[in-house]
Amino acid sequence: MASLEPVYQLKCSCNQYPWGKQGSNSLSAQLCAKQPGWDGKGPNDKTFQIDENTSYAEMWMGTYPVLPVYVADSGEDLQDLLDKHPKELIGENTIQKFGHTMLPYLPKVLSIAKALPLQIHPNKDLAARLHKEKPDQFTDPNHKPEIALALSEFEAFCGFKPLAHIAKLMSLEPLKRFMPEITKPDFDDQQLKAVVRKMLESDDQTVKETYEALTSLSGSDFDGDDYIPKLAPRLAEQYSEADPGLLVSLILMNFMVLQPGEGLYIPADGIHAYLSGDIIECMARSNNVLNTGFCPRAERDNVELFCSALTFTPHSPEECMLKSTKYDRSKEGKTLRYAPPLAEFDMIVTELKKGEKESLGKVGGPGILLATKGSASMKANDKSIELKEGAVYFVAPGTELAFEAGAKGLQVHMAFVE
Ligand SMILES: [Zn+2]
Repeated sequence: MASLEPVYQLKCSCNQYPWGKQGSNSLSAQLCAKQPGWDGKGPNDKTFQIDENTSYAEMWMGTYPVLPVYVADSGEDLQDLLDKHPKELIGENTIQKFGHTMLPYLPKVLSIAKALPLQIHPNKDLAARLHKEKPDQFTDPNHKPEIALALSEFEAFCGFKPLAHIAKLMSLEPLKRFMPEITKPDFDDQQLKAVVRKMLESDDQTVKETYEALTSLSGSDFDGDDYIPKLAPRLAEQYSEADPGLLVSLILMNFMVLQPGEGLYIPADGIHAYLSGDIIECMARSNNVLNTGFCPRAERDNVELFCSALTFTPHSPEECMLKSTKYDRSKEGKTLRYAPPLAEFDMIVTELKKGEKESLGKVGGPGILLATKGSASMKANDKSIELKEGAVYFVAPGTELAFEAGAKGLQVHMAFVE
């Protein structure tokens, strides 16, 4: 048996949803094109060619069977390698914690040209039930809380606005029809849920009329949210004036514009719709989603199910943000840590200018590392590697990493668990 390595270079591929950026405009496609000997279809030696007429949405870097990753040298499915050496490559702690030998997280690079479906990812109980009932649509029993870190300017709808703010907007004439009949003195989450349901259940004509009425108002009518009438036509052009996702996102949700380095945290059952930009996303290992807007009617999941699963956290833009802290295992202090309130993963980001160095102490569980930008000489324990832009590595538990950045500096993202 060949001895195990501290790191393994991987080959990753991307999927092609209609909301992805086109051709070489897509960062996920650009990064895929840098995977060694890879045509994006299977473990072979063809080179990935970017088709300028195709929308490339997400490069996946985990061991989920929908879009697996392969070890670059051997062509072996990474999951097969992990299954052969679980103790060494996943670590006993991680196996005990999750009860399996898979990576508990799934990192991705997303390149977003237009709104993704308005969605939530069901919590563990609901996911387990849906997986049992419809295994073809819900392909695992797990929850899928996620984080999104901006690589470019990143626009997103995330969580709900504060209740008082929504109540004010709902007093606009065109929106009164969506208010529940029984009104309480204070607008609360139950009423908000009724509004969400009413908007999502509206027929095309009602949504279209509301859209027209809203866009004929002036920006100052929107209580500080003067982006609403400006953004509405863009969303209507991407989908339709009759898409109820328009009303839910514009009126009820926080519209956020993040700059590179800023991050969002979406809890299980948290409502979100990403709108534009390139991001690193990482989630608990799951592919479950309920969609209700910004997609054709036939692709929308049941409104009742969607509304019954909804959580009302976060409830302000501030609550959506995932802040970074200094990473305590960084020797040179050039690494930040994003730690969402989850057992499945943390994400660290190292940024180096030309010639700068960083060393990272060992972690007890497995990591997935992406050279997002630039290059470096990397040492993984005593193994030396030329780390090139776009390269993705599996990092075994107990591996110390050291980087010295090349001419264009280096940006590395690494997800890990322990
Ligand atoms: Zn999502």
